[in-house]
Amino acid sequence: MICITGSVRELIDREDKRGNKVVAVGIGSPGIIKLDKGIVVTSPNFPGWRDVPLRSLIERVINLPVSMDNDANVAAFGEKWRGAGRKVNSLICLTLGTGIGGGIILDGNLWHGAHGMAGEIGHMTVDPNGPRCNCGNYGCLEAYSSATGMVRGATEAIKQGKRTILRRFSGNDSRQITAKMVYDAATQGDRLSISILKEAGSSLGIAIVSLINILNPEMIVLTGAVTGAWDLFMPAAFEEIEKRAYSRVMMRTKIVRGKLPGSAGVVGAAGLALRQMGSLPPMT
Ligand SMILES: [Zn+2]
Repeated sequence: MICITGSVRELIDREDKRGNKVVAVGIGSPGIIKLDKGIVVTSPNFPGWRDVPLRSLIERVINLPVSMDNDANVAAFGEKWRGAGRKVNSLICLTLGTGIGGGIILDGNLWHGAHGMAGEIGHMTVDPNGPRCNCGNYGCLEAYSSATGMVRGATEAIKQGKRTILRRFSGNDSRQITAKMVYDAATQGDRLSISILKEAGSSLGIAIVSLINILNPEMIVLTGAVTGAWDLFMPAAFEEIEKRAYSRVMMRTKIVRGKLPGSAGVVGAAGLALRQMGSLPPMT
């Protein structure tokens, strides 16, 4: 915590010296968050955290208004405010990284749901008989289309004796396998890695079809490190969407890559902080 407040203080001082006045602080935090109270209930990234009042802790030290939301939600807001979704009123943003985060924007506003839990798209079931996910459910999207999911697929296949150059890449230690290795192996024609990326794409396609069926958004924005492998997994996703589309109308939803790689969350957190202060006009 000292580190977080210390970094915030440092950034404020730095901007001060440059003649920029910092007026608010926006935070995007992973995990389950009580939005009204600014409390991080639990966070997979910070195993020791339980009911941490992050917002008030920072407010107390820096004496500026602080806004806080889930990390995937701030990324979605960033893409809406300054990224791929500037010209649309409704979008769903999926952050494909270690896990899969989701943020839903309807009529220009983030949709938080009744209890602040909306947008957990990574835990949408895409295969009821699939592998167990960290959340306790089976066959979640995250278990296939995240970096962790791909590594899991590779590790299991190796355990079953499948042939792959990933053995060599990892020095015969499957614990060393990374999603980047799977990508590199696929570009070198490794059949197992190609099939893992294809499965990641198909699962994503299945999830996207459901999202479009339920909400009919103007746009689906895909962001996060995994989108670097776009050409290797998205054809399977598009194929699945085409196959399962309920009507041709569905195909009007644009499916695009985010325009703020690596910074959607930061931009969105800033935007939400400005919005909380009333400095951002409505975006519908
Ligand atoms: Zn899950």
